[in-house]
Amino acid sequence: MTGQIIDGKAIAAELSQFIADAVKRVTLEHGIELGLAVVLVGENPASEICVRNKTAKMAATNMRSHLYRLSATVSQAELLDLIERLNQDPTVQGILVQLPLPPQIESRRVIEAISPTKDVDGVHPLTVGLLSAGLSGIVPCTPLACIMLSKRVHGSLSGLETVVIGRSNIVGKPLAQLLLMENATITIAHSKTRDLPEVCRRADIVIAAVGQPEMVRRDWIKPGATVIDVGINRVAVENGQTKIVGDVAFSEVAEVAGAITPVPGGVGPMTIACLMFNILNAGCVQHGLALPADEPVNTPA
Ligand code: NAP
Repeated sequence: MTGQIIDGKAIAAELSQFIADAVKRVTLEHGIELGLAVVLVGENPASEICVRNKTAKMAATNMRSHLYRLSATVSQAELLDLIERLNQDPTVQGILVQLPLPPQIESRRVIEAISPTKDVDGVHPLTVGLLSAGLSGIVPCTPLACIMLSKRVHGSLSGLETVVIGRSNIVGKPLAQLLLMENATITIAHSKTRDLPEVCRRADIVIAAVGQPEMVRRDWIKPGATVIDVGINRVAVENGQTKIVGDVAFSEVAEVAGAITPVPGGVGPMTIACLMFNILNAGCVQHGLALPADEPVNTPA
């Protein structure tokens, strides 16, 4: 028996449509156009693809994107100067600095320079602190995507046993905070966790954010559990070709899981839709407008 495949692409399309309509209303009713500034330093092919995907999505949700391309030799002072100008620019509601940055630039200094009100990636220390304290603020996109997908399956996450594999600052830790806010019972596993398969077997929801191709196997999953796969791993196949796989061995785990996200087509498209959602919300807060209600996907409690 195969579990329900959670169609992240379709759910992201629904959320994007909601965002596009809400943005259109903000423009028509208040004359405000919402926009994202993307800062790309140097020429990193993976970053180029990532930025292209995001800017295409911006147009599809009626928002503008401004791309700032800087040379790989740009100084930290020049980059910080640009961030400050974007902080002051009323036509920019969100600022996203594509990582990684070249070695002469301290990423932390740059992240800290972004105004927390425009930190649509949810990486500024103040944003992180608000989340840890359970206070409202911007929520990082990938963890938000995982919560929305889990709530699509379960409705409420209250009381559910949840295992997050991975404790990174961008996925595992903020995701754990969000799950706590949803009243889930949460275990964070990592590379030093003893008997990880056994830890996973007691979970109602397993969320893998590891970066190890197809690490989570069929016998790690309690029958009927939900499996959310954050991993994006490029692996070699025949004839010198490559393909993208997640952190979960999809075909075998799908036989035992109650519901599972595919890779690609699961968390990835939802992450981009959540970025658009954050820009919309940031724009509303900056202009003193009510946040759009009744979004089609459940947001955190
Ligand atoms: P990361 O910073 O490298 O963190 C990986 C985490 O996994 C660490 O906490 C590490 O433990 C843990 N880990 C590594 N090997 C392990 C093992 N054998 N057993 C148990 N835990 C292990 O990665 P990340 O940035 O969180 O990203 C994780 C994955 O998600 C990557 O594939 C990335 O490409 C993907 N990703 C996808 C999206 C999306 O939009 N879909 C967004 C972000 C990331 P230690 O802390 O002990 O080292």
